[in-house]
Amino acid sequence: MRNITIIGAGIVGIATACYLRRDGHAVTVVDQRPPGEYCSFGNAGILSPGSIVPQSMPGVLRKVPKYLLDPLGPLTVRWSYLPRATPWLLRFLASAERSRVEKTADALLPLTGKTFDAYDPLVRHAGVSDLIRKTGYVVVYERDESYRGDAFAWQLRRDRGVEIEELDAAGIQRRVPSLAKIYERGLYLPEQGYVANPERLTKALAAQFERDGGSILRREVRDIKLAPHGPQALETDAGPLPVETLVVCAGAHSGELAAKLGEKVPIEAERGYHVMYSDPRIELPLPVSSAEGKFFVTPMEMGVRIAGQAEFAGIYAAPDYRRADVLAKHMQRMFPDVSMADTTQWMGRRPSMPDSMPVIGPSAKAPNVYYAFGHGHIGLCGGAPTGRVIADLIAGRPPAFDVSPFRIERFS
Ligand SMILES: Cc1cc2nc3c(=O)[nH]c(=O)nc-3n(C[C@H](O)[C@H](O)[C@H](O)COP(=O)(O)OP(=O)(O)OC[C@H]3O[C@@H](n4cnc5c(N)ncnc54)[C@H](O)[C@@H]3O)c2cc1C
Repeated sequence: MRNITIIGAGIVGIATACYLRRDGHAVTVVDQRPPGEYCSFGNAGILSPGSIVPQSMPGVLRKVPKYLLDPLGPLTVRWSYLPRATPWLLRFLASAERSRVEKTADALLPLTGKTFDAYDPLVRHAGVSDLIRKTGYVVVYERDESYRGDAFAWQLRRDRGVEIEELDAAGIQRRVPSLAKIYERGLYLPEQGYVANPERLTKALAAQFERDGGSILRREVRDIKLAPHGPQALETDAGPLPVETLVVCAGAHSGELAAKLGEKVPIEAERGYHVMYSDPRIELPLPVSSAEGKFFVTPMEMGVRIAGQAEFAGIYAAPDYRRADVLAKHMQRMFPDVSMADTTQWMGRRPSMPDSMPVIGPSAKAPNVYYAFGHGHIGLCGGAPTGRVIADLIAGRPPAFDVSPFRIERFS
C-alpha cells in the first residue's frame, strides 16, 4: 500500500481519494478550500453518459463571431485577455476537424458512459444515493434550423448507442408543462440524469472518506520540491509536506502545478455562471437544456438552477455578473412564470482543455505522479469514473477503460 497525496478537494480529487482509500492506501487530500467549494460547487449537476460531443465541432469558426456579437450569446472573451487566450483558442479550433471529433467521442464514451456505475458504490457507502436522479433530460430548440445544424452532434451520440427520443412541440409540453410555448423541436434522453446538490455530493463523499480513515488538510500548495525521481515535498502555506505518490486534481489550477513538475499543458479557466432560484414557484420534473442558449436548467434540492456561459477572461479576473444576468433573461423567456423572489449568482472556472478531453494518467516525467484534471464541461459526470481508473492505474490493475487518449504526452 502507498502513501498518496492528492492536491484538490473538488469532485475529481474527492472521488479519486474515495477510490484510493477503498484500495487501502494511506490517502491525504490537500486543498486551501473546504471540499466542493470551487468549480464543483455550482455546476448544472448533469450526469450524462451521453456527454461525448466535444465543445469544438465542425463549423465552430463560423458560429464564434455570431456568439460574440449577440449580447445574450453563450460566449464572451475579455479583449484584454485575448492575446493570452489565443494559443488555446487556436488549438480549440483545430480540434473541430471531423475525424478528430469522432475519435474524441470514442475516447469519452467509456469515461462518461460509466458515470452512474462509478458513483453508485461511493454514494451508497456515504448514504447519499438520494442525490443521484436518473430522470433523463430534455433538450429544446426554438428553431428547426438550429436543430438541423446540430445533426452531426446528434448522430455522434446515436452512433454510440445513446438513446434519444424526438419530441414535437406538444411532446415537449407534455414532458415539461411549465416551459414557454416557443420551442419547435425537442429531444428526450432517457438514460441521463443529474445530481440534486453537487456541493453536498462532494462534501458527503469527503466526510465518508474521512470516516474511513482518509485525511483532508486545509493548505495551499505554493510550490513543489523536486528530487531526481520526482516530487519530494509540497511547499504549503503551513510548511513542507513530504510526498511519496502525488495525484494532481487541482481543476483549473492544475496547469500551474504541472508546470512546476516540468510539464506544460494548455488549460484554460473557461468561466461559467449560474443563477439559483431558491423559491422558483414552477414545477420542473427533470433538467431542460436550451441547445441554442447552451445552458441547462436543473431542479435541485435547493430550488432551480440555470447554469451555462463560457467566458475567457483568465483564471484570476473578477467575475462579471452581467453574464449571470444574461442567464436570468434566458430563464424568464424559458419559464415566464418563474419567481425571481430569492436568487443568488455564482461564477466558476471550468478546467478546460482545447480538445475537450481531460488529462488522466501518469506523468511523462515523474514515476510517482498521476494527473486527473481538465474535465471542462463534464467534470461532475467524469469525477467518479476518473477516480476509479486512477485507482486501477496505481494498483496496477487493468484500467476500467483505455486511458491512452487522455495521456499528458498528447500535448508535447
Ligand atoms: C456553469 C458550469 C456548469 C457546469 N455544469 C456541469 C454539468 O452539468 N455536469 C458536469 O459534469 N460538469 C459541469 N461543469 C463542469 C464541472 O463543474 C467541472 O468540470 C468540475 O467541477 C471540475 O472538478 P475538479 O475537481 O477538477 O475541480 P474543482 O472543483 O475546481 O476543484 C479543484 C480544487 O483544487 C484546489 N486547488 C487548486 N490549486 C490548489 C493549490 N495550489 N493548493 C491547494 N488546493 C488547490 C481548489 O481549491 C479546488 O478546491 C460545469 C461547470 C460550470 C462552470
